[in-house]
Amino acid sequence: MPENNGQLLHVQGLKMYFPITRGIIIQRKVADVKAVDGISFSIKSGETLGLVGESGCGKSTTGRAILQLYKPTAGSVKFHGDELTEMKGETLRRERRRMQMIFQDPYASLNPRMTVGNIVGEPLDVHKLASGRARDERVQELLRLVGLNPYFVNRYPHEFSGGQRQRIGIARALAVDPEFIVCDEPISALDVSVQAQVVNLLKDLQNELGLTYLFIAHDLSMVRHISDRVAVMYLGKIVELTDYQTLYDDPKHPYTQALLSAVPIPDPVIEKERQRVILEGDVPSPTNPPTGCNFNTRCPRVMDVCRKVDPKWQDVGEAGKEHWVACHLYE
Ligand code: SF4
Repeated sequence: MPENNGQLLHVQGLKMYFPITRGIIIQRKVADVKAVDGISFSIKSGETLGLVGESGCGKSTTGRAILQLYKPTAGSVKFHGDELTEMKGETLRRERRRMQMIFQDPYASLNPRMTVGNIVGEPLDVHKLASGRARDERVQELLRLVGLNPYFVNRYPHEFSGGQRQRIGIARALAVDPEFIVCDEPISALDVSVQAQVVNLLKDLQNELGLTYLFIAHDLSMVRHISDRVAVMYLGKIVELTDYQTLYDDPKHPYTQALLSAVPIPDPVIEKERQRVILEGDVPSPTNPPTGCNFNTRCPRVMDVCRKVDPKWQDVGEAGKEHWVACHLYE
């Protein structure tokens, strides 16, 4: 995938393998879990890229490897053109301040023994951004920004609903004035009625603060209202990437077609006609992915070549629109 000006983040050939070791005294590596296996994409400043796929396909690992919370096995991650994988110590710490993460589970990601004021203010302390009265004012400003009452500073996380806790998590992420946020399934654990409120809040914050998001979700309906472009991931690889409308109107990859067939349509007449594509079998182990196309064990359109040759990652878009897909049907 080519690197262009205007990109905030450029990821090229990113791999994240976790070794499996055996032995009690001498540990030796016997295999690798290929959680992320050579993915490439870029995100423009102010854009939201949705990253969608089933649980365990490597979405969250991708987010963590981009933020260098995991040291990637191979590949390049450039932020503002600077290579993050080569940074260490204070340089990396300074760069990380510009990139934050919002976590999936608002119940587990907040320390239950800390007050809201200390949860939101902690990043200000760690990065020495404010102290005393300025710190208190900044915390109150952040709470207001995410739609919470600033007088809640002395309350504890258990006193809040799931949606409010996610707002606290968002306020904490915003404390250090980041440019880029990895939203790791931020609405999956919330009630459906609250999901739209959190998505709207993230959109408002993006407009107000010029934020760029990588928005991770496990189904396409969740990314629909927030993503400019969507990348579909299967077993450690991105199989399709284009703008949301094109993906929705003209999905190319058989896996995307199956995912889309599971999204309910809000028109009762069309919904009645909706044909579900049911995928047979389980997702293969990332320790031993199939040879050739890694979707070949479940693909309803599998051909002989798919079991032997890895499909190319190519742009099949028309009229200047980018539409990347990895599938032999389009070669
Ligand atoms: Fe299916 Fe073959 Fe395309 Fe893979 S390359 S998605 S197995 S048709």
